[in-house]
Amino acid sequence: MTLTERIYLSPPHLTGEEIHYVQSAFTDNWVAPVGPHIDLFEQEMSTLVNVQSCLAVNSGTAAIHLSLLALGISSLDTVFCSTFTFVATANPILYIGAKPVFIDSEPETWNMSPDALERALKEASANGNLPKAVIVVHLYGQPAKMDELLMICQRYGVPLIEDAAESLGSTYKEKPTGTIGSYGIYSFNGNKIITTSGGGMLVSNHKEGVEYASFLATQAKDTALHYQHSQIGFNYRMSNIAAGIGRAQLTYLEKRINARRKIFQRYEEGLQGLEGISFLPELPGTYSNRWLTTILIDSETIGVTVEELIFALRNENIEARPVWKPLHLQPLFQGYSFYPHDVEHEAISEMIFEKGICLPSGSDLTIEQQNRVIHCIQTTITSNLHLHPYLLG
Ligand SMILES: *Cc1c(COP(=O)(O)O)cnc(C)c1O
Repeated sequence: MTLTERIYLSPPHLTGEEIHYVQSAFTDNWVAPVGPHIDLFEQEMSTLVNVQSCLAVNSGTAAIHLSLLALGISSLDTVFCSTFTFVATANPILYIGAKPVFIDSEPETWNMSPDALERALKEASANGNLPKAVIVVHLYGQPAKMDELLMICQRYGVPLIEDAAESLGSTYKEKPTGTIGSYGIYSFNGNKIITTSGGGMLVSNHKEGVEYASFLATQAKDTALHYQHSQIGFNYRMSNIAAGIGRAQLTYLEKRINARRKIFQRYEEGLQGLEGISFLPELPGTYSNRWLTTILIDSETIGVTVEELIFALRNENIEARPVWKPLHLQPLFQGYSFYPHDVEHEAISEMIFEKGICLPSGSDLTIEQQNRVIHCIQTTITSNLHLHPYLLG
């Protein structure tokens, strides 16, 4: 271990127990995309988030795709989607050939703006082209304003899908994110709060919908002795090995959340003296798993840009990243509509994109490592202020 040892943004954090679950899969020869760990992982998840049905699949993206199909969405339909998110939230809309419409963030949670959603739905309703679903993301673990969003969706009779890929364990008014809308999804990719190395979960209280998704996820084989198929299926199921890893990880979820919340708190304390740095707040009534600590920097106050700070950290062998680039700004989604939070001002998601940085937040981050990150941020900012003394005046 040296001082320049690499610090990653959010690496997989194994418990040591995984090997026993994987070993049992080997011992029982369940090295297949079926097996007892899958059923148990689904049951354990159902209990944890208090939802009727769970379907373990091979990615969070696949779970989103299946949620759209379970709602009967086709190429003729429109789907509203948070713009401030990872591309995987919206790609499944394009898999289906449906049309995405992007909704801005609001400043308190950085998640979907109820104002923008309301305006978009009102306009769609007037034009007779209401969307078939709204996908709301709980970014970086912070729950979105679910009461407001759900009420608006219900008024227009549009189902809500929650992309809770980053927010497993977060709650909104005591309810786990992912279980508040019609369907929810989680991701167990290597960078998420718990991992199966790669995987995802579709959850819902619509038992038939999840059963249909399960049918589609296993090649859509009709009930017949021979191989008969009447519709397009997918090979989306999670393997028994991956589910075994997930079961071990799940028993440590609470510890992982506590660790990430502590990391957030230490960044807040370590950087509190610096003006021009602000943190994503935790909305009252919500509990965030603090998957990633993200800060906004005001370049004019601190005299350093997002790029400069990321490069300064990189020079110290520390991985930091910009926040997600809003989807309405992506070349892939050029030409699709976007509804801002406030028509008079710059879009909130664009402002966050200009100022946001994700800091190393892995649950195995040590205090010494975190002090290195904090120290690097402090020295980058203060040395820059020395170079530009006029900024102090
Ligand atoms: C990680 C992630 C996904 C995709 O999950 P995969 O398991 O990697 O397919 C979807 N949405 C968001 C917001 C994510 O962070």
